[in-house]
Amino acid sequence: MQSAYSDAAGDSFAASDSRQRDPRYAATNVRYAFARRAVTALHRKGVLKLGTKQQAAIVLVSAPWPLFNRPSIQLGSLKAFLQKNLPAIPVLAHHLYLDVAESLGYDRYRKISERSWLAESVYGALLFPEQYDSIEKFWWRSSFASSLFPHGRDFQWVCRAVETATHRSLESVDWDLCRLAGFSICLGQLTSTLYLIRHLKRALPHLKTVVGGSSCAGKMGQSLLNAFPEIDFVVQGEGELPLAHLAASLVQGDSNLDKSSIPGTLTRDPTRLLPNSNMAQVPALDDLPIPDYDDYFALVRRLPPEKRFFPKIPMEISRGCWWSKKSPVGEQSGCAFCNLNLQWDGYRAKTPARVVSELKTLATKHQSLALSFMDNLLPAKGLKELFTEIAASGRQFQLFAEIRATTPSPVLSAMGAAGTETVQVGVEALSTSLLKKLKKGTTTIQNLQIMRDCETPGLPNLTGNLILHFPSSDERDVAETLATLAFVAPFRPLKPATFWLGYESPISRNPRAYGIRKRGNHAFYGRLFPIPVLKNLTLMMQDYSGQKRYQRQIWKKVEEEVHRWQENYDDLHRSPESGPILSYLDGKEFIIIRQRRPGQDDMTHRLSGTSREIYLFCQTHRSLRAVLEQFPRLQEDTLLPFLKMMVGKRLMFNEGNRYLSLAVPARYPFS
Ligand code: SF4
Repeated sequence: MQSAYSDAAGDSFAASDSRQRDPRYAATNVRYAFARRAVTALHRKGVLKLGTKQQAAIVLVSAPWPLFNRPSIQLGSLKAFLQKNLPAIPVLAHHLYLDVAESLGYDRYRKISERSWLAESVYGALLFPEQYDSIEKFWWRSSFASSLFPHGRDFQWVCRAVETATHRSLESVDWDLCRLAGFSICLGQLTSTLYLIRHLKRALPHLKTVVGGSSCAGKMGQSLLNAFPEIDFVVQGEGELPLAHLAASLVQGDSNLDKSSIPGTLTRDPTRLLPNSNMAQVPALDDLPIPDYDDYFALVRRLPPEKRFFPKIPMEISRGCWWSKKSPVGEQSGCAFCNLNLQWDGYRAKTPARVVSELKTLATKHQSLALSFMDNLLPAKGLKELFTEIAASGRQFQLFAEIRATTPSPVLSAMGAAGTETVQVGVEALSTSLLKKLKKGTTTIQNLQIMRDCETPGLPNLTGNLILHFPSSDERDVAETLATLAFVAPFRPLKPATFWLGYESPISRNPRAYGIRKRGNHAFYGRLFPIPVLKNLTLMMQDYSGQKRYQRQIWKKVEEEVHRWQENYDDLHRSPESGPILSYLDGKEFIIIRQRRPGQDDMTHRLSGTSREIYLFCQTHRSLRAVLEQFPRLQEDTLLPFLKMMVGKRLMFNEGNRYLSLAVPARYPFS
């Protein structure tokens, strides 16, 4: 969340000019030379000059509802790439969502932005006024909506406020000078972006518009082009190269555009529709310039003092997901529910040296230490070394990252030492049979180990989801989940997440294997879009039929238990000094374990000698055989009763023949 803004010294950092062109793009730069000459001519004629309105030949727009307190990484990356390769073309990254957030009130904006159906409703009503009544009913029927605006702020008020803020923000740009407007469409930005495009195109029919982003992948992008004549181009996949080609062609007067296809771009001309396999990607991420967030930070500086805040800076280490690979015959592996990687072909990561230098550059330039890695998940290799190097910079960063549950404890320690405050971990389930169906490649005991590790003082805090109602889950999965829930009380609660079917996720490509009979756009889109429009669209959130009532029934008890887990965890952490719920102090010959319990006195356990050593050895989950090999003087018939007793007291967890100690060091991070 934003904190009160106080920047006594002001921002005196001179923006670095890193516009040296990369030889890799030498060929395209020949074409871009035309564009540079055209824009330089406009400069000379005084057509492009500073005025009260923001002026640029290319305006990149991010519509509501991304998090308002950080710049758009899509806009920042694209602007930096265009400036590096087409330095004569002025580009503006217009963060329209920040203008709307400021106008609506940050808290109100955040509440809407966290619920994508509510977010889509607001601009849905502005885009299709004929749908207003149905959308308003939908807004209020949403279980959350009634508690959102308790002081008489109704849907009509929200729509009017958003509409006014949107138009004020649009008017801050000199659209007459804009040749190409680019829009990034990710989750929650569909109706807002379509509204902006429709409005701009009505006022400026000759303005060329291009959309891209995760909601434009595959058939989704093609369907947007078919359904909305205001869209001229759709970029499929990564945006940098297609947008640079398009920008060069349009700014230089359109003459080349009709003759050549633009890789990675769909156009209205059916002869130039290119299949998805023609995504145009930058081969190595180190070749990308550092994202340019200057326009966002300038916008923050223009806010009234009481509304300014310290933004978080987004950054990326990689694109794609190393866990999700394509087989030689084109079959996609990876998590069954995930469609996060439709935009990328394969997996690429920056080198550690580049990551560290980019991190330092962004922090210094924007005088901020709060950075979020936007990767779907961090790279598999070299993380310990990377975060050790970040820690060695001596800067007290506040970092966020997404990781897999198999991330080892020493890596988490290095991440904690580098200032990683929170990690989003792909836990998803507490049943190994369900994890297999989800194709997570993890087990329950691995999930518990990372949940336990993240309770250790000094290590990152864990956030994660517990997927409910997954198609094909059954009573066995639920029983396993309930059995595991009896052991998780000391750890940060997972957020229950009802399964939704994502377009082109592995499960949607192979629905029968999961008992799904029929699928199509999610029924809620029917509230937002008129039927004749919707029937031509393929959209991100899909709906399906198949055992939905059964799923709701079997997961009900789990939902109740997770609710109780959250209440108890909050209760036990009400006092800031309360410390971990299950922790130990090491006396070297013995350890003392403290077990805090809701509404009851603490329990204390002492383990001495070999018992202590076994408990510490099982800080990483171990098989029975491994424990026996580590302690050769022990016999199985003396070891097993001890382990069973520890499991009975909820001090250890076991799965099959593997055992995990659940208490964390009370004071010390892992060494
Ligand atoms: S959920 Fe995460 S780990 Fe799984 S396929 Fe998607 S991005 Fe990869």
